[in-house]
This record gives sequence, structure tokens and C-alpha cells, in this order.
Amino acid sequence: SPWFTLGMATPGAVLNVPVPNSLHTHSIGPPHSSLVTLRTLSAPLNPADINQIQGTYPTVPPFTSTLGTAQPTAVPGNEACFEVLAAGSGVKSVKKGDWVIAKYTGLGTWRTHLQVEEEKVQRVEKEGLRSEQVGTVGVNPVTAYRMLKDFVKLEEGDWWIQNGANSGVGRAAIQLGKRWGTNSIAVVRSRPGAEGEKLKKDLEDLGATKVVTDEEMQQKDFKDQVKEWTDGYSSPLKLALNCVGGDAAMAMAKPLSPGACMVTYGAMSKSPMRVGASMLIFKDLRFSGFWVSKWSDAHPEEKKRTVDELLEMMRTGAFRDTPMVEVRWDWGTERDVLVEAVQGTLEGFKKGKGVFVF
Ligand code: NDP
Repeated sequence: SPWFTLGMATPGAVLNVPVPNSLHTHSIGPPHSSLVTLRTLSAPLNPADINQIQGTYPTVPPFTSTLGTAQPTAVPGNEACFEVLAAGSGVKSVKKGDWVIAKYTGLGTWRTHLQVEEEKVQRVEKEGLRSEQVGTVGVNPVTAYRMLKDFVKLEEGDWWIQNGANSGVGRAAIQLGKRWGTNSIAVVRSRPGAEGEKLKKDLEDLGATKVVTDEEMQQKDFKDQVKEWTDGYSSPLKLALNCVGGDAAMAMAKPLSPGACMVTYGAMSKSPMRVGASMLIFKDLRFSGFWVSKWSDAHPEEKKRTVDELLEMMRTGAFRDTPMVEVRWDWGTERDVLVEAVQGTLEGFKKGKGVFVF
């Protein structure tokens, strides 16, 4: 029997017509040949998904008429955990009841159901996992993992620093850095009183060696502080992960050891960075960037291995979830509830990452 699909179309900014977000229902038939029919279990709302809707992201999801809309529409959302409901006769890699995630970005995950070619999804071993863990593994934790591994060789005892340390990526990086025997400095935005202390303790419990606020990092004596922590730089500060951009990011570059690398992966402050010539000439700092979508498309096997390793950490309790705020999406859910959740995604000081749970 046909399945019902709820998809949320993108707003006017991308469509370039005065159409607001819409909630759309559509029925899909049983899968044939290499098609699989999926039911979404959880799908996060990541900042990049919003940038995509706003039209400020380099990629746009495909606009099609396959959902039966009058005009071509696109479904936002780039990651999720799906359950296989039915598989076409030619499908080999998955079967009914399996859990899968998107192999590539742009799948359009903010919907209740989906029918796609089998090769667009990757099976995961679901035993011992919750769908929210599986649905959020492919972007934030993978980004953190690759940035710690692929830019400098971090030895045990080495130091690295990151801003936006309370983000999904930041929290994943803290845990992986600790697991791999490195020391991290977590830079966060300050919060008043007890809330600030709580965040500091949270991140220390996750594995951050030191937690400082943006303001503390921008003090003149921060470099001396780092010198003391690293025992006079005998353990070098080799890497900086930059989620925020702007002057605060450049302040993070100042204490880096010669030859260190700053990897920019986000731009939450929306401010540009001014690199001082002395950082390049005298310290030979390297400024690089990372984009998990491009990396995943170029390294599908390595992506699978990374995801499997991360899921195993989650399964054994060695990796803690980022705080999440569940947004239930079922048959009775009003469009406004969904739109409100989407709109809150770029706000700071949130209780957790929004995740649609179906
Ligand atoms: P989360 O929603 O989990 O966290 C957002 C973070 O941004 C929080 O730490 C928040 O700090 C901080 N923040 C929000 N507004 C500002 C601001 N105005 N100035 C400084 N910091 C701010 O995000 P994700 O971990 O999913 O993503 C974080 C960033 O990384 C985004 O820019 C995202 O696009 C990017 N990203 C990039 C990837 C890539 O491949 N390049 C992959 C994954 C993410 P606070 O807690 O203080 O509110």
C-alpha cells in the first residue's frame, strides 16, 4: 500500500518566489528494482541546513517535482537515521528493518518518509544504539574526527585549541581528543554566573583539559597562561579548530606553536578574519579549511569506517551525545511547530541541538 510522505519545502529565499515554508503530503508507491522506502526516525537541524535554506551555502538541494508539488521544491536537511520499510527486488545491501544513514549530503531528510536508490544510503549496525545517535553521527562527530586526524600529527600529550567548543562539533572533538591522549583548550562564549560554571564543568567532564571564555582568551596574558600549561611549550600547541571566525579566531592563533595549523570549519560570528603577516612569515602558521560534505563525497570508504568507529564508541558508552532538544513530528504536528524549530537553529545559547524525532 502507498506510504505518505511529508516534506518541508524551502522558503522564498531559495525559490525566489514569495512562498513561505510549506508542509506537503504526498503518497509514494511500493519500491521497485533498486529503490528502498525509508521511514525517518530522527533528523537533526544543523546550522548548515539553515544556511542552505537561506541561500548562503555553496550547495543547494535538488529542486524537483517528484513530491507532486505545483512548482519544483526541495526538502531540506542533510542527515538522519532511517528505518528500511521495504526494498525493491534488486536491492542487495539492506533489508526491511535495517537502519541506514545518508551516504551523501543533499538527501533532504526533513520528512517522514523517503524513497531512494539503495546506493544513496549506507547501512549501519543498529544494535545498542538510539536513532538520535545514528542520525547525528555523520556530520558533527565525523567533522571533529577528521579535523583532529588529517591536518597535523597530534602525538599523545600535544595540545590543541578550539572555539565554539560547546557546539556539536566542539563537544565531539573534546571527547576524541581526550580519547587519543591529547590536551585541549576549549574556548566558549561566557555566560553569567552559575550557568558559566556549569558549562565549564560540563566540558571538563567531557575531557577538555582547560576551558576558557572568549574574553579570557583575548587577555594579554593568555599566551603566558598557555606557556605555563604546556610546560614552556615543551608539549606544542599544534592545532586550532575554528568554528567562529572574526577577531576572536585570530586571538586563538596567537598562542599557537610555530608551524601549527588553524582549520576553519564554521563562521558562526559571520565576521571575516585578518591574518597578521608575522603569523605567516615568522611563525609559518598554516590556515586551512575543512568541509565534511566534500570530504565524504571524496572518501566514501573512509567515511564509512569513521562512522562505524564513532558508532562503536557510542555503543560502548565511550562517546556522549551532544545535548539535544527533541521536536516531535507526527501526523498531527502543525507546520508552525516545525517552522519555529527550524528558525531557532541559528540562535546562540541554546539548550541543545534541535532534532526531529518521528
Ligand atoms: P551547534 O548548533 O551544535 O552549535 C552552534 C555553536 O555556535 C554553539 O557553540 C554556539 O555557542 C555557537 N554560536 C552561535 N552563535 C554564535 C555567534 N554569534 N558567535 C559565536 N559563536 C556562536 O552547531 P554545529 O556543531 O552543528 O555547527 C557549528 C558550526 O560548524 C556551524 O557554523 C556549522 O555550519 C559548522 N559545521 C561545519 C562543518 C564543515 O564540514 N565545515 C560540519 C559541521 C558543522 P553557544 O553555545 O555559546 O551559543
